[in-house]
Amino acid sequence: MSRIAYVNGRYLPQRAAAVHVEDRGYQFSDGVYEVCEVRGGRIIDQRRHLARLKRSLQELRIEMPMSEAALAIVMRECIRRNRVRDGIIYLQITRGVAPRDHGFPPPGTRPSVVVTAHGIDVVGNERIAADGIAVITVPDNRWQRVDIKSISLLPNVLAKQAAREKGAKEAWFVDGGGHVTEGSSSNAWIVTRSGKVVTRPADNGILRGITRTVLIDVIRAQGLEFEERSFTVEEAYGAREAFLTSASQIVMPVVRIDDRPVGNGAPGSVATALRAEFHHHAEWT
Ligand code: PMP
Repeated sequence: MSRIAYVNGRYLPQRAAAVHVEDRGYQFSDGVYEVCEVRGGRIIDQRRHLARLKRSLQELRIEMPMSEAALAIVMRECIRRNRVRDGIIYLQITRGVAPRDHGFPPPGTRPSVVVTAHGIDVVGNERIAADGIAVITVPDNRWQRVDIKSISLLPNVLAKQAAREKGAKEAWFVDGGGHVTEGSSSNAWIVTRSGKVVTRPADNGILRGITRTVLIDVIRAQGLEFEERSFTVEEAYGAREAFLTSASQIVMPVVRIDDRPVGNGAPGSVATALRAEFHHHAEWT
């Protein structure tokens, strides 16, 4: 079955789907995106993802090209046409097509919209989560506005590749003060020796993950101690547990950081319990 992509009002076989060479996303990374999990044919936390999308657009002064309700219909249609039960839906909105010039295009230039959806290997992911993953640390060399979910991801691309080349699944960015900011495509967490769950405050230094937001509710509901503060790489090395969160990985135990085992080198009980509990607290659409 050929995959179907939505591009500017049309549903097309993906091999025929294309954007213009002068699309500002292609030319300048001038756009934003969202990734939502699809589970059992339903979209997880759609409302929060669309709210973050609107905020990202506002911060970059790109107009929302269609209503939230219309976008929700396109998302649903992409899931249906691609027959996705468990998978991912990807949305991208750019500042549109215009002759290449760094400044904004003329008023009235229509933003470009792309939506795609594809299945993921749920059983394979559960197997990965049961083993846990390795992460490496890399210097955070990104711009100051990583709170915007922009498609400009070059440092993230290089960081992820560096991780892969070292046999790891994710790279954690580390700021100038030695504190972990977040992963190349996920938020970073530890559980301290005394059992406190810790993650960095969602200031301009990280993307405010939707999974992160919902997981804070789960942590509170479970009566776990929670602290929103920065932690150093050294503290992560010595933590009882570590894990990461993202829409596609949910809660993923981290069992090695820079080749040192975290805790006893196996997924921790807190991360495992939070992973099992997450979808009871998420919104299903
Ligand atoms: N940080 C970065 C840099 C990301 O790319 C992602 C994944 N979109 C996240 C955090 C996690 O966000 P979410 O939980 O909304 O997927």
